[in-house]
Amino acid sequence: MQALLITGLPFLVINGQSALRFDIPELKLYFFGSVIWINELYLILFAVLFFLLFIISITAVFGRIWCGWLCPQTVLLDLSGSISRLFDGLSRRWLQRIVLLPFSALVSLTILWYFVPPVKTVQLLFNDSLITVFFLVQWAVIYAELAFMGRRFCTTICPYAMLQNAFFDNDTLVIEYDRSREDECMKCHDCVKACPVGIDIKEGLQTDCIACAECIDACAAVTAQRNMKPFPGYKGKLLRPKTFWLGGAVLFVGGILAVMVYSRPDVTFLITRDPEQLPPGINRYSWSLYNNTGESRELELSMEGKFAIIGETVLLLEPYSFKKGKVLVRSEGGESEVVFRIEGDELTIEKKAGFL
Ligand code: SF4
Ligand code: SF4
Repeated sequence: MQALLITGLPFLVINGQSALRFDIPELKLYFFGSVIWINELYLILFAVLFFLLFIISITAVFGRIWCGWLCPQTVLLDLSGSISRLFDGLSRRWLQRIVLLPFSALVSLTILWYFVPPVKTVQLLFNDSLITVFFLVQWAVIYAELAFMGRRFCTTICPYAMLQNAFFDNDTLVIEYDRSREDECMKCHDCVKACPVGIDIKEGLQTDCIACAECIDACAAVTAQRNMKPFPGYKGKLLRPKTFWLGGAVLFVGGILAVMVYSRPDVTFLITRDPEQLPPGINRYSWSLYNNTGESRELELSMEGKFAIIGETVLLLEPYSFKKGKVLVRSEGGESEVVFRIEGDELTIEKKAGFL
């Protein structure tokens, strides 16, 4: 499900663009029907804050749920392992490495879809050498990591794995061996053989455990024959005060982020006076217009008072596009301030700027 969501998200089209995709040439992030420009750094910082808070909260309550169930590495290794087990008599390790080849290519392609419009990706893959090299290098790195490092990545390199234990408390969801029933355990070691990171869960909770529950399934296969519960099992308390206040904080910050993104005006208009020296009564101004919506707009730049604009004043903005330019302004009075106005498509924006 998670793999389908990550792979399919760039194909979900809202207002004519991918739901989530970063456009490198124009340095903008398509964000669920809106657009965040690179100069809107405060939004990007707030989105990072929301993401960190979300990760900390999920980890504090659900432990390593990401590692055991959602991480693309877990999903791909589990899937390729299951496929390789279908073919008896062949070397499973090599078969898994072969199965991982197309899977790694798909992951590399999925990453590209977050930067290049999905419909153009195949065309660019064969015509744009930069995209081709990017895809091939990424494919090789992902394949090498999955096929030759596998779970060792989780226990030695993954920064999230190293950090998450710091967020645990006594009630965080973990997988634990039931020591009170140790005498009944058959010591068959099926739990150890099933563990993808080579842990013996009977020796107690260990930091390398990725909470994949493979040991529970392996033990259940043995204990079911004796009508017993498996010895390893989940331990933790999901409903507790911390769950509610952390969940509330995530919703609060997420709500503020949504308001910040979606309450912006449809068009952002910025204008500043250039500091250069020009003949008396004439100033030059630099303007920028950002279309934050998926609709084309025709806008007109005008001014209040006794001023004349020299330059482009009818401005066409494509959906989610950005345009900038310069105008000269000549004063016919002695004003020290000018008011610029952007009008069109039921929109009026005014901005003041100094005049020398
Ligand atoms: S101990 Fe169990 S839950 Fe932990 S990694 Fe091993 S098999 Fe998965
Ligand atoms: S699989 Fe279950 S019964 Fe076998 S050793 Fe592990 S905990 Fe004991």
